[in-house]
Amino acid sequence: MAKILTFCAVLALTLSQVTTVFADTLALTPDQGSLQLGPYVEYLEDPEGTLTIDQVQHRSSGWVASQQDILSFGYTASAYWVRFRLTQDGARALSYLLEIAYPVLDHVHVHVFEEAVQVAEFTMGDQLPYGKRPIDNPNFLVPLTVQPSATTTLYVRVQSSSAVQVPLTLYQDLSLVEAHYNRGVVQALFYGAMLAMAIYNLLVFFSIRAASYLYYVMVVVSVSVLLGGIEGLTFKYLWPNSTWLNDSTLIVGLSGIVTFSALFFRDFLAIPQTRPVLGKVLLTFAILTAFTAAGAFLLPYRPMMLMTILLAVGAIMTGFWAGIVRWRDGFYAARYLNIAWSCVLVAGLLFALNKLGIVPRNWFTEHVMQIGTGLQALLLSFALAHRITYERDMREQAQQASAAAQEELLEQQIRTNEDLDRMVRQRTEELEQANGKLKEIGATDGLTNLLNRRAFEERFQTEYARAYRDKHPLAILMIDLDHFKSINDNYGHPFGDLCLVKAAGVFKANIRRPPDLSARYGGEEFILMLPNTDVDGAVCVAQAILDSLAQTEIKDENHCVTISASIGVAVCIPGDQSDRETLLKEADQSLYVAKKNGRNRVEWQPREPVA
Ligand code: GH3
Ligand code: MG
Ligand code: MG
Repeated sequence: MAKILTFCAVLALTLSQVTTVFADTLALTPDQGSLQLGPYVEYLEDPEGTLTIDQVQHRSSGWVASQQDILSFGYTASAYWVRFRLTQDGARALSYLLEIAYPVLDHVHVHVFEEAVQVAEFTMGDQLPYGKRPIDNPNFLVPLTVQPSATTTLYVRVQSSSAVQVPLTLYQDLSLVEAHYNRGVVQALFYGAMLAMAIYNLLVFFSIRAASYLYYVMVVVSVSVLLGGIEGLTFKYLWPNSTWLNDSTLIVGLSGIVTFSALFFRDFLAIPQTRPVLGKVLLTFAILTAFTAAGAFLLPYRPMMLMTILLAVGAIMTGFWAGIVRWRDGFYAARYLNIAWSCVLVAGLLFALNKLGIVPRNWFTEHVMQIGTGLQALLLSFALAHRITYERDMREQAQQASAAAQEELLEQQIRTNEDLDRMVRQRTEELEQANGKLKEIGATDGLTNLLNRRAFEERFQTEYARAYRDKHPLAILMIDLDHFKSINDNYGHPFGDLCLVKAAGVFKANIRRPPDLSARYGGEEFILMLPNTDVDGAVCVAQAILDSLAQTEIKDENHCVTISASIGVAVCIPGDQSDRETLLKEADQSLYVAKKNGRNRVEWQPREPVA
């Protein structure tokens, strides 16, 4: 046990001696290149920030050997003094550039002493216009000359409302060019990639008008503003004369990332439609960080920054949760978002821990935000591309469905048209039948059911034309019931009607050949037309009618009679189309003769056939 204690004591003593030696004086050689000064410096905390260079110079207590590569004090209201001594053994003076590679520091003062005499003093910081810097560079650079055989002592005072880090590097001529060239290439690659992604997605947005793309572009722009602000690039290139704008850069950048990421997540994952509460939470984050962005211009830096960081952490967690929920819903593009968010989460965490002085500052922690956000931008771009494919598939499916529906509609239309056709045909047939019936009714005498006079005249015209064409004889029998008036007078009108019906039955019964027809010509006058019948045939039919009438008893409950008729026959083979009336007149004349010769008889007028 005693041995261990002794060992520890010796180790502690050795280490403290080393630090004292290191912190004491740094001997420079001409071919040193670049040198990180962290391990060689001492620092002094000035909680009130009131100490002057004289007070600090004469202060022997409170100095702490740094032992870190990069001094990091986190968020603090104190001012910090850093000092170190340089010597060299060469024959001539050596020129250096001292770099303080943390561009967001508010106030940086450098005092250079040769032995006890102050030979140079530099006032810098992002609270001064960019042009006031001794050397044009996003980082703080001061020229330094170290004389041989004289100790050069530097006091660097740093105070900032941002996190306080003092990465001190001493560069000798070309080494600075090399280091800055490499840094420039990395920066050009990163911001070039961000710019390309922003422009590409902006063009996509203009062509397809989906809000996600615009939000994505704004996320990329915000990331660039934040990182560009941290690296001092926005101050150098965008607003070198506005410390007011420069002061707000980081908060605006970080707020922008949160605002537009939250909006992007909501829109991309269709959160409001599927998880309304989650949608409102994300929207709240977006609105609150929009306020912090605006507040950055009006309110003190530190509380605004802390609030923005807290909101960012909350929003990242919520976004992460939203991604998981939608992923579980089967929305596969969500996984890209989750991985992207994880990158930012880890990067942001490491970055914040570094700024708080918990994780050491090195190349990785310095570039972790670039790496994380670069990966995020890439993955979000993947997610958007995935969504384009997804939406295209959906559109194709919808198009197919709509084509099928259209086909179905067309078929249905064809079926409907066919049904309509069938119905129209059916209706037409029915109408034709009804028309036929009407025509029949119009052509028929209501009492006797024989053709009426008008219908007879139509048929007579047709048959006469045919007889004319075929040179066939056409016979007409004009019939008038005898003494019919007295039947009416003696037995009453209804009985007269009955006689007319019976007589009609007799006429119909005596004409059997299809083209023959009988019609009621007037009150008790009838007419028969017998196509293709000569005088003998016609007279024969007329005689048969008279015989039938004589044998037909017409009776009702009270009466029983037989009736007779007189018949005039006329026959011709038509020689002239317009000769029809003559044939009827001749039949009428024969009838007149029959009446005159005593009734109940047939008279005829044979005419010379026309050659
Ligand atoms: P004739 O032998 O000279 O032909 O003598 P007639 O009495 O038949 O002559 P007339 O032409 O003078 O009389 C025809 C009568 O037929 C007159 C009318 O009362 C009767 N008559 C006409 N149409 C109808 C009818 O539809 N029903 C009835 N019951 N009688 C009718
Ligand atoms: Mg008469
Ligand atoms: Mg009569």
